[in-house]
Amino acid sequence: MNINIKTPQNSTTAPSAPLIDNFGRHVTYLRVSVTDRCDFRCTYCMSETMKFLPKKEVLSFEELCQIIEIFVERGVNKIRLTGGEPLVRKDIMQLVERISKHLSTGSLNELTLTTNGSQLKRYAKQLVDNGIKRINVSLDTRDSEKFTRITRRGKLEQVLEGIDAADAAGLKIKLNMVAMRDFNEHEITPMITWAHSRGFDLTLIEEMPLGQVSGDRRKRFLSLREVRDNLAKDFTLEKIDHQSGGPARYVRLNETGGRVGFITPMTHNFCESCNRVRLTCTGRLYLCLGRENQMDLRQPLREHGKDGLNKILTQAMSIKPKGHDFDYSRIDPATDRHMSVTGG
Ligand code: SAM
Ligand code: SF4
Repeated sequence: MNINIKTPQNSTTAPSAPLIDNFGRHVTYLRVSVTDRCDFRCTYCMSETMKFLPKKEVLSFEELCQIIEIFVERGVNKIRLTGGEPLVRKDIMQLVERISKHLSTGSLNELTLTTNGSQLKRYAKQLVDNGIKRINVSLDTRDSEKFTRITRRGKLEQVLEGIDAADAAGLKIKLNMVAMRDFNEHEITPMITWAHSRGFDLTLIEEMPLGQVSGDRRKRFLSLREVRDNLAKDFTLEKIDHQSGGPARYVRLNETGGRVGFITPMTHNFCESCNRVRLTCTGRLYLCLGRENQMDLRQPLREHGKDGLNKILTQAMSIKPKGHDFDYSRIDPATDRHMSVTGG
């Protein structure tokens, strides 16, 4: 179901009105998927034969910046660049530099990104130079054969070098690890110990049924409740209030002193505190990762400029759903959309 509301001619919105949805949630966090393309094809994220968007459908940097500016004027104070792989978009640093101007003015508190790490060696220093302080790097295994298997083409060595470069450049790193039964469940403890020994936080993620991929997601689904119970046998888990602005809930491991986050869309719904929306590289605004509620921003921007968009953003708030609809008891994925379209 696509929900796509047309702009009523007479609706107006103050350019600085905060973005508040029908459930009183204040949207202050925008995730921007700058490309649907990627140099990897992670098996849980994409199919082997992904068809990518024609380049002409993708928003220009100018258009992305205009949209971002309106969000910032309306109270968004955190932006995460994602994808696909954000660092494979051509001239990506030009976009980072332009968005980082909002950091300098103080309108934006944080600009960050989620990356697979493959291009970090090349870009780590420039990210720091543009005001980025912390990044999320996805790493599901530290076994090079398994890494190439899960990413279908990635090289672990390249990613580890990228992580080293990011660390050396002074970026704070959080690792993202999708927990998968019979794939990396026995690597979780060693990965945490390694991450903490390097001073990185680590967040575990439950696999979500987004888009059709090969294999049966239900067979490899690993509940983080189970993972947490197992971790509690080896470590003392102290609940902490740490917030990274996203859906992760954190514990500190007394033995390592480091933090572990749990993103549990499948076993524990965190929608009541959702403060974010997602923009695709073609200008579709998705109000929830797990639902199809979305609005097109590209056409109103092209036809009516910033004024047109302001109205659309106000309307978009009214279709932000109360929560997602993930459920492994159904065979079909929750959405046709792969994670790479809206980003993580
Ligand atoms: N390419 C970048 C990366 O891999 O970090 C950014 C985009 S990727 C879609 C963002 C995050 O989503 C990654 O941490 C990835 O592991 C996660 N992800 C992808 N598909 C997922 C799924 N079906 N369920 C849960 N997490 C998923
Ligand atoms: Fe690419 Fe990230 Fe998806 Fe892997 S998870 S295929 S790296 S977009």
